[in-house]
Amino acid sequence: MLKIHNRNKSASVHRNLFTFVFLLFLLSSCKPDLIITQGSFSPSTPQEGDVMNINLVVKNNGKVTASDAKISIFFEIAGIAYAPPSNSLPAVTLSPGDQTTVSFQWKFASGWGNKRVHLFAEADVGHSIDELDEQNNRYDFGDLFILPTTPFTCGNNQLIIPKYKNKAYQCFDIRTNTLDNILSSLNQATERVFLYGDFAAINTPVTLLHYSYDRIIFLNNIQFQIQTNNVSALPIFDFKDPSDPLNLLCVTVYDNITDLQADCGAGVDACAWGHNISVTENAVNPLPSITGISKGNINYYYNTVMPSDCLPIEFHEFQHIIDRLYLKPHDSWFEEMVARLFANPSNILPLLCPSVQFTDIQKVENGQTQILTTLPSLWEMNSTLPLENFGTQYANGDVCKQAIILQINRDALAGGQTYLRKLFSILSINDIDTDQKIAQAVLLANGNDPAVKAFLQQNGCIP
Ligand SMILES: [Zn+2]
Repeated sequence: MLKIHNRNKSASVHRNLFTFVFLLFLLSSCKPDLIITQGSFSPSTPQEGDVMNINLVVKNNGKVTASDAKISIFFEIAGIAYAPPSNSLPAVTLSPGDQTTVSFQWKFASGWGNKRVHLFAEADVGHSIDELDEQNNRYDFGDLFILPTTPFTCGNNQLIIPKYKNKAYQCFDIRTNTLDNILSSLNQATERVFLYGDFAAINTPVTLLHYSYDRIIFLNNIQFQIQTNNVSALPIFDFKDPSDPLNLLCVTVYDNITDLQADCGAGVDACAWGHNISVTENAVNPLPSITGISKGNINYYYNTVMPSDCLPIEFHEFQHIIDRLYLKPHDSWFEEMVARLFANPSNILPLLCPSVQFTDIQKVENGQTQILTTLPSLWEMNSTLPLENFGTQYANGDVCKQAIILQINRDALAGGQTYLRKLFSILSINDIDTDQKIAQAVLLANGNDPAVKAFLQQNGCIP
């Protein structure tokens, strides 16, 4: 009896398992499947201020009804996607095989002009519906260029620095002009050329045009995204300042060092102000040079060897512009320190130019030279006393400032990009106009670590 009972039970388990698998099969094919089969928009060449109409045909290719599926459009600029507010999105309910047209309107507000955007649409945004195929919800329109209200003209160009306003200019869009195009269109009388792209521009003497062309292509297409991604700041300066119509980041290559130092200050070879980065010829046509960093009585030297198509333009100065646009009011000494955190060549350069090489790295201490194989990290040097002389100059004998500089470099050394992004996001939402507030931001970025708190208290930064 017992044996038979067992056999019956086993048969029933098999039957149940079969039913279960069959039901699973039925269930899995009984799903909706939303796809966008067609898309159109007008006007086809939109201008800043225009309202664009976008139509999508959404179809349910599945076996059961799709209920309340949200549909959205997206405008992506350099990796950041903009969409209508989620509570305003249309929702569709479609029986199997049915389709419907969904319409959107999108206004290109002030600041969208002169930008290349990637337009796409998605059915079932947020994937709230379980579908047969979750990979076919996106419809791609490709890239479109939003024309500015005021055409970009040389004569009406707010980005040209006062010193070089009266020069004879020609302007070119690097997205539609090759270097050969530009060279063959140059007039005899032209003294300077203004080249611009989606996010960046360069104002260069004619004599340096071909170097500047390579640099602006790199800055516009690669450097901009990498640097802004490092701080998670939006790569669209326009949205922060609608009163500035063309609002690109602009590099000015100076005619000579005397002109540059008259604008930037004595003894420097680069600086940043407004949307401008001032550089010398060396930034676009570098001579072989040895870089030196010192800490106390130790000096480090190294050569940087970069492929000619990937030379970045003064990433430290670039960071100052990002800091100014995205951080709340703060002391200039602290802005300098934040720019410095990002300007560590051993950190940023390999990101920008993966084939960069650092050669002839030497450490010189008390006249003794030691050959090193790796670049010294600025974060490491600035984490211990005595501070590398740059930090000492900014601390200017103030123990609290010095403590903060030490701490942010230590944390950057330990936490890398994650720490920097966190610090940057805290700084951009909190006022940091006094040493005490800066110390509190540093403490917050460290998750209120008691050791950091004790350190800042000891140095009189916080009570
Ligand atoms: Zn600086």
